[in-house]
Amino acid sequence: MNYKDYYQVLGVPKDAPEKDIKSAYRKLARKWHPDANPKDPKAAEEKFKEIAEAYEVLGDSEKRKKYDVLGSDWQRASQQAEAQRRYRTEQEREDIFGDAGGAGASGFSDFFDAFFSSVGRQQGRAQRFAQRGGDLEAPIDLTLGEAFAGGKKTISLQVEDTCPRCGGTGVVNNAVCPVCHGTGRTIASKRFDVTIPKGVREGQRIRLSGQGSSGIGGAPNGDLHLVVHFLPDSRYERKGDDLYMDLPVSVYDLVLGGDVRVPTMTGDVTMTIPPETQNNRRLRLAGKGMPKPRSPSTGDLYVRLVAILPINLSDEERALFEKLEALRAGTA
Ligand SMILES: [Zn+2]
Repeated sequence: MNYKDYYQVLGVPKDAPEKDIKSAYRKLARKWHPDANPKDPKAAEEKFKEIAEAYEVLGDSEKRKKYDVLGSDWQRASQQAEAQRRYRTEQEREDIFGDAGGAGASGFSDFFDAFFSSVGRQQGRAQRFAQRGGDLEAPIDLTLGEAFAGGKKTISLQVEDTCPRCGGTGVVNNAVCPVCHGTGRTIASKRFDVTIPKGVREGQRIRLSGQGSSGIGGAPNGDLHLVVHFLPDSRYERKGDDLYMDLPVSVYDLVLGGDVRVPTMTGDVTMTIPPETQNNRRLRLAGKGMPKPRSPSTGDLYVRLVAILPINLSDEERALFEKLEALRAGTA
């Protein structure tokens, strides 16, 4: 554990008046707010937390006094905190202190906890509580191709979370929290890496464990549930694991039979049309549908044959069709 120079963090002298500390904090908080630093929000968040922690101490006259007085003796305070931490871990069988990059029980650094958390606990044992973060739900738009292939996809969502400044209380030092304006919640754009299961279906939920709202008091985060929605496909209609499509074919292929190309999810295949096939008949291509979830097999592709009738007939074609008609009628 390292000594934290909160005056240096806020860039103010040791004898700075309260209003200078406040304005220094505001300026830095604005500058380092993760929303204002889209290039490296993680680093900005670290910096932002550090600033919030420094202001939590220097912006509170009681805490500032304690920090000024005990600051030089911080190592003893740290040993005490370490002893307390071990005790609690054994008592509660919960490793909620001091993990996650040095964030202590307060959400601030171990150094902060060494000084201030024991005081807070004596005053507010009854107030100290832990609550699992809420589950979140959001839609995810997929193409048929993404569901067919499965695999990784990165998406960006606007996520509501517990305010990092006030920890969700909406209040800091008996004043309205300057970050969330008292709501206790913040909204930020967040990226998620999603694993798309092969053959995922409309309405299916993909759970991202621990990616929901932050837990309070060391409790676990909630989950994020992504509800699958499919973008319309220009070619196929999906029913379960089967695909359906219309294929325009010449009237001669229907009457005389022939081979046609059919586009499938894995490329074109050749399909044979038997002679004297009726218009709108459906042919099945086995195994050319969607992968079945958690199964090695796949659905089928149903191809409806739609006749293209000839137009702009030449005189000769017209005469031949008339002859065909007469033959059918038995008058030729
Ligand atoms: Zn807040």
